[in-house]
Amino acid sequence: MENEISGRTRLAGLYALPARHSFSPMMHTTAFQATGVDAVYLSFDVQPERLGQSIQAIRDLDMLGINLSMPHKMEAVKYVDELSQAARLIGAINTIVNQNGKLIGHITDGIGCMESLKQNGIKIIGKRMTILGAGGAATAIITQAAIDGVEAIDVFNIKDDFYQKIEPKLAMIAEETHCQIQLHDLADEKQLSESLAASNLLINATNIGMAPKTEQMPLPDPSLLRKDLPVFDVIYHPAETQLLKAAKATGAKAVNGLGMLLYQGAAAFKLWTGKEMPVKQIQPLLEETIKK
Ligand code: NDP
Repeated sequence: MENEISGRTRLAGLYALPARHSFSPMMHTTAFQATGVDAVYLSFDVQPERLGQSIQAIRDLDMLGINLSMPHKMEAVKYVDELSQAARLIGAINTIVNQNGKLIGHITDGIGCMESLKQNGIKIIGKRMTILGAGGAATAIITQAAIDGVEAIDVFNIKDDFYQKIEPKLAMIAEETHCQIQLHDLADEKQLSESLAASNLLINATNIGMAPKTEQMPLPDPSLLRKDLPVFDVIYHPAETQLLKAAKATGAKAVNGLGMLLYQGAAAFKLWTGKEMPVKQIQPLLEETIKK
């Protein structure tokens, strides 16, 4: 389909630093064209000290909305008028929707993960899961899983300074959502073994498995994996991490983070346009772009 820019064409985009490497312009511009939405999506390198003015520009230029990535996800919270429940609990946003000058902040990474699990036939609502890592991706997943009705989440992280900081945040998410969330030391092998034995899903939300750590595994003991324990890895490049290979070897479902990336975009697209992103059309394009 041709991309015709008119006087009515609206602008959406990404504010990040760096922003130019992003897959989002391809994803959203393809989706706008396929669904007949008169809009384009561009990447903007936004310096931290210009973030406030750049967000004000969404109102001034009547933009459809924007996505935010590092380093702006947390700082942007103070410039919007309203937050979704997940964004408020996490204290970070990756999407702003412009509702006639009122800016609403959302975080769609967790929605992307939950949708990818659903699309892969992994049922976790009302059940227990274990997640490795407690950083940005992990917190988004934990929060959305808790909001969606996962019953219990065992979180494992290295016992460092960050561990102490994340503990009260997880307690707050647990209190508001009534999900049982427990933080454990990743070095506690006995606890990890017990948690996995009681879990219906293992998620890796650390960067172990991604370059330059492609030969490493976030799980200290792969013999804890089993056939009826699906494994989801937030990493999508490489497409199959050592963890996913080990899970596959047991006969378990093994899902990489590509679907999370795709569906977090689809969730933002729906928030801006009210339309479903044509994910079947976009997924192969995304796979091709990532391989390059
Ligand atoms: P963060 O830096 O916020 O979090 C990284 C996490 O990994 C932290 O919990 C960190 O613990 C842990 N970690 C780091 N090194 C080690 C180690 N050697 N052993 C055990 N744990 C470790 O990063 P993000 O959450 O933003 O990103 C994490 C991964 O998720 C990346 O690979 C990223 O590409 C991917 N991602 C995928 C998305 C998708 O759509 N599929 C979306 C967003 C991210 P500590 O802080 O205590 O060191």
